[in-house]
Amino acid sequence: MLTQSQIEEMRNLLENGLRELREEAGRLEEQRLRLSAPEVEYEERSRKDTGQLALEEQERLARDREKEMDDALLRIGAGTYGTCLACGRDISMQRLRAVPWTLHCRDCAAAEEGGPGPAESVEEPLRPAPILPYRFQGMDDAALAAAAQDELHGDGRVETVELSLRVENGQVLLGGVLPSDRQHALLLSLLEDDLGLQVVVDEVRVDRTAFERRDRAPGRAERPPRPEEVMIEGEVEPEDPYRSVREGAETSPADRMVPEKEEK
Ligand SMILES: [Zn+2]
Repeated sequence: MLTQSQIEEMRNLLENGLRELREEAGRLEEQRLRLSAPEVEYEERSRKDTGQLALEEQERLARDREKEMDDALLRIGAGTYGTCLACGRDISMQRLRAVPWTLHCRDCAAAEEGGPGPAESVEEPLRPAPILPYRFQGMDDAALAAAAQDELHGDGRVETVELSLRVENGQVLLGGVLPSDRQHALLLSLLEDDLGLQVVVDEVRVDRTAFERRDRAPGRAERPPRPEEVMIEGEVEPEDPYRSVREGAETSPADRMVPEKEEK
């Protein structure tokens, strides 16, 4: 059973989260409406296509989350909050703080997700989704990865050509190669300090030579650019989640012009 002070803690967490979520949903809607306005500048088109579908998806997720948080507050009022709907046991405070709207204890949630049952799940324990910074609440993993990519591209100081960035369960997994320890530190700082995301896997290698070969080797300039290099110009490699968000979107005239160059 939760103590009265634990219940108050969760009520505050939910009420504050809900308020921020509604503000965020309002901002998302405003942004989406602005992007769909016909007078959007030509240069903004690609940004618009990138953003449109992701924004709609974020709004939908935000509404779902809003409902879940509302329901959690109702359960607090009804005195049933914090009890697992499936097995009737207490949900740990640790889990409630991480997923305040959850209906299930960790084991039942893991079982419900179709993963291995509680016995096998010991090998790979379920990581509870972290509470995301408010600006990211309601976003799914693909949208978070896109936001992280945006931040890195916008910042411009980290060489993302050989970097891989994935988001699973709201947490960041890094791999690939960077040219310097300084960029590695910068990358972590941008993701964790600036964006407030949690990096749970960091398998980035630092290898300056990989970049020097590419950048400086004479006679190499003539070869067709590799897909990863195209990314420097603002495109994204195929396995990038950001790309899949974009490709799901209705393509604009601006995007259709790109393949035409490749037609023989
Ligand atoms: Zn349970």
